[in-house]
Amino acid sequence: MKLPFRVTPKVRIAEISAIPTVEMARGFSYEQWTELPLYRPSVLAGTTSELKLLVEEIERKKLDLSCVDRGITVLTYSCSPLLDDIFRVLLWQTFGVPVYELLVGPNRTLIAAECEAHEGWHVRPSADVSFVDGELMCTFRSCPPVQTGWLGRLEIEPCACGRGSARLMDLVFPMQQTRRKLAATA
Ligand SMILES: [Zn+2]
Repeated sequence: MKLPFRVTPKVRIAEISAIPTVEMARGFSYEQWTELPLYRPSVLAGTTSELKLLVEEIERKKLDLSCVDRGITVLTYSCSPLLDDIFRVLLWQTFGVPVYELLVGPNRTLIAAECEAHEGWHVRPSADVSFVDGELMCTFRSCPPVQTGWLGRLEIEPCACGRGSARLMDLVFPMQQTRRKLAATA
């Protein structure tokens, strides 16, 4: 998977999982996280749960990742909650760099990448997406369309960032909302 922003080959990208999925990233399993400061990555990539663990380690002063100066890429897999504002702010407070969310579909294919102007998620040219009853469906090769669990809409108007590709807008993960509602009434 490609990063949603341009990086030179010199930029070190660390993905905080054993098997990296981001192009040019070096993978660091949980046991290898202590080696991260030595690698001095400019970009970090990981899922929300991995990044939450990493932020905890930083808060406990177990890790110093002040070297991260380009961006954080959050990998969100289909049928899982989208990056919420609370954690987005925490990432910003921890690293002080832009945060971009990548939407990953079946077979670890990149569906869409968050716009640099944060105006939705730009659909990748290779991704085959459609909406059924408001739910985003993703087709991989000749397989039948797969549900992503995310509701939203497709925007084809040109984007403020200058990219012409269609965007996924107003995405929500309904199970997330139900949980929030339950939490609010509890
Ligand atoms: Zn854009």
